[in-house]
Amino acid sequence: MKIWLNGGLQDAESARVSVFDHGLTVGDGVFETIKAEHGRAFALTRHLERLTTSARGLGLPDPDLDEVRRGCEAVMAANPMALGRLRLTYTGGVSPLGSDRGDAGPTLVIALSETRRRPDTTAAVTVPWTRNERGALAGLKTTSYGENVVALARARERGASEALFANTVGALCEGTGSNVFVVLDGELHTPPLHSGCLAGITRALTVAWAGAKETDLPLDALERAEEIFLTSTLRDVQAVNVIDGRQLADGPGPVTAEAMRIFDEHSAADFDPR
Ligand code: PMP
Repeated sequence: MKIWLNGGLQDAESARVSVFDHGLTVGDGVFETIKAEHGRAFALTRHLERLTTSARGLGLPDPDLDEVRRGCEAVMAANPMALGRLRLTYTGGVSPLGSDRGDAGPTLVIALSETRRRPDTTAAVTVPWTRNERGALAGLKTTSYGENVVALARARERGASEALFANTVGALCEGTGSNVFVVLDGELHTPPLHSGCLAGITRALTVAWAGAKETDLPLDALERAEEIFLTSTLRDVQAVNVIDGRQLADGPGPVTAEAMRIFDEHSAADFDPR
């Protein structure tokens, strides 16, 4: 297995990042997860734009996108596989053991791991913690995912594969690694970006292609929803058939099934949709 580290390919087993890397010591970093299908990265341009937005939000220098593109190509070419999780990690680099960032320059890692298509349906639960929609990290894809890790572990304990957060005013926000859509009175809605959710790329494409409304929703909209689905890079569109133990349907409902069909059709026609 080959990875890209600061300018070149290296063996994954022997590649070394400093124990003083600010990404490791204080979570000072940003990342992207990209779907790699037969050596092609889906929606790469959008992912690179979001990487830059997240880096700027954290005050990191803009990533060198020519290098990132070259690195993605090299890593996918060196590790052929049908479906992979291409992961870009970009951190504050070697720094003092505190919150001040050092001046050694950022660390860039590009790695790939094999993965499988997610099932069409899954169970989700709500968790008692909130997403802070106003903090410095709101809406950025940083490596500070501790809360997401805890929430996902809670979901697994309850037999589910995703946990859904409310924000600090009790509005529905997002999952630990996904955006959420609900069908109410036959209409498709998703929380707006000001809810504090990540500007998910699958979310944006689903809003554009399937025509969802961006609506402030209370958390208990999940109790009334006729259908619920999740979107993310590795899920595409995935139906939630059990929410907090309540069975919605055996399989995807009609609106969800249509969103899945539209997403598959559009993404097959355009691998780098803008
Ligand atoms: N929200 C969070 C917190 C995430 O980590 C992800 C996964 N990147 C998403 C939403 C979905 O975003 P995308 O469709 O860009 O994968």
